[in-house]
Amino acid sequence: MWVLFDILISWSTGPSTGDPTLRRRIEPWEFEVFFDPRELRKEACLLYEIQWGTSHKIWRNSGKNTTKHVELNFIEKFTSERHFCSSVSCSIIWFLSWSPCWECSKAIREFLSQRPTVTLVIFVSRLFQHMDQQNRQGLRDLINSGVTIQIMRASEYDHCWRNFVNYPPGKEAHWPRYPPLWMKLYALELHCIILSLPPCVMISRRCQKQLTLFTLILKKCHYQMIPAHILLATGLIQVPVTWR
Ligand SMILES: [Zn+2]
Repeated sequence: MWVLFDILISWSTGPSTGDPTLRRRIEPWEFEVFFDPRELRKEACLLYEIQWGTSHKIWRNSGKNTTKHVELNFIEKFTSERHFCSSVSCSIIWFLSWSPCWECSKAIREFLSQRPTVTLVIFVSRLFQHMDQQNRQGLRDLINSGVTIQIMRASEYDHCWRNFVNYPPGKEAHWPRYPPLWMKLYALELHCIILSLPPCVMISRRCQKQLTLFTLILKKCHYQMIPAHILLATGLIQVPVTWR
């Protein structure tokens, strides 16, 4: 009797069985591998939220790469499924495992330029081929056209876990805790991109040991242009001592 009671309590804290988004939720292992900032998995995953006008209702869904990138699949789906009403504002939030490549950035800008009442906020867990100048320019162009791009922090992982993942009963607060250093490194690199600075975070993979490594190379321009609190937040840089 007590065991049964316990199970019922646990179920009440898992995604509700009546939840219409349940079938759209991804499995915990998928979330863990797709959104791990240290994983360099090829495929991309997109979790998204759409809110129309002043409605409190949020549409949630997820998508993965097919023969096309997830961003293009979203644009195609959005364009084909909905008769867009230009007088109603639309707020879209993306949680992307990889930041958009330059081609997707271009397609997103075209999509948004045709829909001035749509706003887009993008959270990413990793920067896709961020040493590539075209990809860096693509992200800058997106930001300059009004798109907000941020690196996913603990609060976004928590939010995605609760709203997009078919987490086991009783595991509502068990979103994966990744080392915060990786989020801070990517946030630092995104700053470099925004400020048109050369890359300072290099990421490589040691295949035999399945290790993802990073190298931090800070030049004078990085110290001059990047706010000190972002550099210090990595915990890898010390405040210079001033000798008298
Ligand atoms: Zn792409």
